[in-house]
Amino acid sequence: MSDATQKPASILLVEDEKRIADFLQRGLESNGFSVEHGLDGATGLEKLHETDFDLVILDLMLPDMDGIEVLEKIRNRKVSPPVLILSARGGIDDRVRGLEHGADDYLVKPFAFVELLARVRALLRRGLPTPERLSIGDLVMDCARRRVQRGGEGVDLAPKEYAILEYLLRNRSRPLSRTMIVEHVWDMEYDGLTNIVDVYIRHLRSKIDDRFPVKLIHTVRGIGYMLDINDKAGE
Ligand code: CA
Repeated sequence: MSDATQKPASILLVEDEKRIADFLQRGLESNGFSVEHGLDGATGLEKLHETDFDLVILDLMLPDMDGIEVLEKIRNRKVSPPVLILSARGGIDDRVRGLEHGADDYLVKPFAFVELLARVRALLRRGLPTPERLSIGDLVMDCARRRVQRGGEGVDLAPKEYAILEYLLRNRSRPLSRTMIVEHVWDMEYDGLTNIVDVYIRHLRSKIDDRFPVKLIHTVRGIGYMLDINDKAGE
């Protein structure tokens, strides 16, 4: 809501595949971001010297240099924006390499645009001071003490349940796919693991929703889950 009054976040997109770059640029721009595009590593770095970007989306396979090299140069700058890496499917070594070199997040091609968008938003929010308390309706999460209350009553959550709830809270009113939840909470490859999300969501619902008339966790058909105070998820 208040986003409209702020200057649009600026994103540098370094990607040599024109089709993907055009698609991402159009999508991001229609979601209110200002986007500059560099077709290779050198152009990307040049643009970085000219402008302070809020976020960099970086493809690892570039024609003129390894994306990791670009990442290192970004990390050596005084103003170093968060970096979201894009990589070809299955490159698990890339993922590890990227994170070791200071990437903030990682997305494997092919990906759904909504997934990229959610990660971009999460990374941009991460740059803001972390609130000590997250809340939705009468559900309150005290991040410093790792405590959760609903309707003034303490709720006992297992660590993974807490992590999923925190992720949902930080992305409230946004649908999160099972894959995103797995990758965020378990920090591993998601193949074959997404069913586990349903199991944990069931546990979470039994602890924070079942006894209350207003449900907070909503199933978003075809995508995953969303935390919202209004039941408009079409469950
Ligand atoms: Ca490429």
